[in-house]
Amino acid sequence: MTQTPQQTPYTTNNAGIPVESDEHSLTVGADGPVLLQDHYLIEKMAQFNRERVPERVVHAKGSGAYGIFEVTNDVSQFTKADLFQPGKRTEMLARFSTVAGEQGSPDTWRDPRGFALKFYTEYGNYDLVGNNTPVFFVRDAQKFQDFIRSQKRRPDSGLRDNDMQWDFWTLSPESAHMVTWLMGDRGIPKTYRNMNGYSSHTYMWVNGGGERFWVKYHIKTDQGIDFLTQAEADELAGTDGDVHRRDLFDSIASGNAPSWTMRVQVMPFEDAPDYRFNPFDLTKVWPHGDYPLIEVGRMTLNRNPDNYFVHIEQAAFEPSNMVPGIGPSPDKMLLGRLFSYPDTHRYRIGPNYAQLPPNRPHSAVRSYAKDGPMRYEAAGTGAVYAPNSYGGPAADVARFGDIAGWRSAGEMVREAYALHREDDDWGQPGTLVRNVLDDAARSRLVSNVSGHLKQGVTRPVLDRALQYWRNIDKETGDRIAHAVNGS
Ligand code: NDP
Repeated sequence: MTQTPQQTPYTTNNAGIPVESDEHSLTVGADGPVLLQDHYLIEKMAQFNRERVPERVVHAKGSGAYGIFEVTNDVSQFTKADLFQPGKRTEMLARFSTVAGEQGSPDTWRDPRGFALKFYTEYGNYDLVGNNTPVFFVRDAQKFQDFIRSQKRRPDSGLRDNDMQWDFWTLSPESAHMVTWLMGDRGIPKTYRNMNGYSSHTYMWVNGGGERFWVKYHIKTDQGIDFLTQAEADELAGTDGDVHRRDLFDSIASGNAPSWTMRVQVMPFEDAPDYRFNPFDLTKVWPHGDYPLIEVGRMTLNRNPDNYFVHIEQAAFEPSNMVPGIGPSPDKMLLGRLFSYPDTHRYRIGPNYAQLPPNRPHSAVRSYAKDGPMRYEAAGTGAVYAPNSYGGPAADVARFGDIAGWRSAGEMVREAYALHREDDDWGQPGTLVRNVLDDAARSRLVSNVSGHLKQGVTRPVLDRALQYWRNIDKETGDRIAHAVNGS
């Protein structure tokens, strides 16, 4: 590049043309009107006006880094997915996020954390889009939009509203397990490095012999679980709203690369119908005692993005990205998300989002997709239709034609899962409160919940909330009631 004598590179416009000034508009005389022919000024103003893409409706505030996933245990008897074969190393991208807050919101608001992973495998991108929680608030995508609106801002005042949140939760008892989790210590992780990730959903794995298994992923932090108390989080929200973003970036920049160990619970395909509850229900965990964790590998985040917008804001994760050897399960929330994620990317960053740097597969793309806004590359084949007589790609049905699916038949209905209709919503959160939390954690739970309920939750929602907690655990519910209204 030609440089000035001071070795400072010269400024150009977006077309690479050297500009005349970084400071002054083109005017008629120094005090005169600004000329429309100042293309550089117009380009700067117009570009500035278009700098933003719409923020994500959920998970708007996030942080991420690139890394590597290494297989450390042989799980090939359960899946033929190439990234999980012995000795395999796969490049990856991770993005962590809060859920309800906007781009500029504090990292330390109480909220689940998104835990989205993209593995650049030999057979395309595998995306595992989970949370730091093993369960979720609702179990049917029909309720997702309503749920999120109840957590975000009121249409009238533009304010967040605890009354709205508890109204939805108490009218949706399937939320109890997730709400218990959220209100406990893990509802505000100390850093992104100090939290686990979970697939939450059940997925299908298929091995080389065509055998099918149901799996749940647990991605456990090697830094150890740690959390912030409500008081610590409130203070940080005011003094360092980007604390989690800063921590992740700084620790990687200083060579302190965080890592997580991936483990899975594996359920034989045939166990599902007769298991003691519906294993596809996203509001439930599989107890470790029933399905112990099996190690798979380790992911290490060791490379910060060199540009936040390019690599993290434009990152597009989608649970529909499943590679050979991995498929969905009959989890209704998962099945809804398979549509919803790619759809939101098409809206937010354009229909050719898969060509953007963080989303571009490291393996060959030979699709018949064509044209559209912001297309950077042709599909790599002259033909734009299939079948064709001109050497275009053809599906390799012998190698990849298996469908990771299950048998299904019945009338079209709008109903709750029929498998284990008798399942209850209170049992597992009750176990969490009584058997997992210790006395100090239970006291913090009571304090977190009662503090939240005291901020704007009105009757009859408040009465329902107190009953909700008594349903989870009578003693905890009574303690919360006492803390809220002394009764
Ligand atoms: P276990 O005793 O085997 O597992 C309890 C798990 O609870 C731990 O392994 C840990 O998960 C997690 N845990 C510990 N402290 C907290 C906390 N403060 N908040 C939330 N979770 C915490 O029992 P079960 O497998 O029978 O499960 C009992 C209950 O534990 C469940 O009802 C569920 O609420 C909760 N749980 C279960 C998980 C599962 O997949 N089985 C996963 C996480 C929680 P981890 O090891 O993942 O850090």
